[in-house]
Amino acid sequence: MLAPLLALIPALAAPAPQAVEPPAITRRFIPLTAQRRADTAAYAKRHYGRATSEIARPLTIVEHYTVNDSVDATWRTFAPNVADPELHELPGTCAQFAIARNGRIVQFTPVTFLCRHTVGLNWAAIGIEHVGYSEREILSNPAQLRASLRLTRWLRCRYEIPVRDVIGHAESLSSPYHRERVPALRTQTHGDWQPWAMRRYRALVREAGC
Ligand SMILES: [Zn+2]
Repeated sequence: MLAPLLALIPALAAPAPQAVEPPAITRRFIPLTAQRRADTAAYAKRHYGRATSEIARPLTIVEHYTVNDSVDATWRTFAPNVADPELHELPGTCAQFAIARNGRIVQFTPVTFLCRHTVGLNWAAIGIEHVGYSEREILSNPAQLRASLRLTRWLRCRYEIPVRDVIGHAESLSSPYHRERVPALRTQTHGDWQPWAMRRYRALVREAGC
């Protein structure tokens, strides 16, 4: 008899899974040609052991910053399917989303397209780029931070990703989902979104809830 009684008191009833409203997102996809998809599948095979250009289920969200001045410049970096200047490998790098300084969210690929943004995690990670040069800059820009938290919240809640798996690129090596078959790349990471900044960011994500 407890359940029907509880159902009369909404605050005590088991919470129904709630669909979190997506933030406003502008779509500006990079060209996902057959060649790029094939290069992506070959990359996934080399690095993760499975030839696919899709993320089966997103398990983590990786925050980045662009070290440039605009979404436009970021799009132009990701659009060509050319070997990247750092690891000299195909496909071209990309992230699924980028957030402008004014808070505009732009989507570059479908959420589950396997983008190359974080060595070891691309098979399972959604990448979010933030236009800017440092964590501090983004954390102190209310419009950009608000958009970032909205986007991360929506994705996190949609794919049931725990707050601890919302990480900075600089935290990639300690992710439980880190996989890398190429020995020389097993310790490769970048300096964007240091742990001190991600602790602040995760506290805000936690506060936002689902
Ligand atoms: Zn990064």
